[in-house]
Amino acid sequence: MVKLSNASKMPCRSWSLQALDTCPGSKNADGSLVDACKGCYATTGNYRFPNVKAPRLHNWEDWRRDEWVDDMVTELDNDRYFRWFDSGDMAVLPLAHKILEVMQRTPWVKHWLPTRMHKFDKFTSVIADMQTLPNVVVRLSSDSVQGGIIAGETTSTIIPTPDHATDSMTVCEAYERAGKCGTCRACWSKDVTVVAYPAHGKTMAKVITLLEVA
Ligand code: SF4
Repeated sequence: MVKLSNASKMPCRSWSLQALDTCPGSKNADGSLVDACKGCYATTGNYRFPNVKAPRLHNWEDWRRDEWVDDMVTELDNDRYFRWFDSGDMAVLPLAHKILEVMQRTPWVKHWLPTRMHKFDKFTSVIADMQTLPNVVVRLSSDSVQGGIIAGETTSTIIPTPDHATDSMTVCEAYERAGKCGTCRACWSKDVTVVAYPAHGKTMAKVITLLEVA
């Protein structure tokens, strides 16, 4: 059975997996976490509760079913916006290809898929196929927490504060709306090249402080 979640911040539903376990792009070559993942919101707070973890663990097995794509297409019948991976990532190629098929078969839905799988060459082709679809934005995540920008048509980065934004960035202003998107749909827009998320949370503040004094 397909299990979707409603992230409180988002104006839409999401299909998610367990953070870090399904995020091979979250680690450096030595196994340490990249800066942006050190303060991952999806490893703290509500995300640690069994009832929040359970659907994510279920989904990791569920996508392998032959009927999964058909079921996702049916489930999205009334959705207009959708976010893949409120937590987790499209860790393996067969899953990525199934997600591509869901995207192709739901042209009435605007899909936003944030990912670090662009680091792995074998994902280049499937990400490119997703990006050719008019209803899809694959937003490649930078590992930086200091506004470092990576190459790509649509990307994201983290900045220490809104004041650190440069002209090329669209700053996420959810922090001004109690963490909610409101009417903003920048993450779903192909016209927005770089979304910059101001850092939040104590762990992320520590990461940034350590980088600034290094
Ligand atoms: S940039 Fe806009 S759409 Fe993206 S998370 Fe922030 S408020 Fe939501």
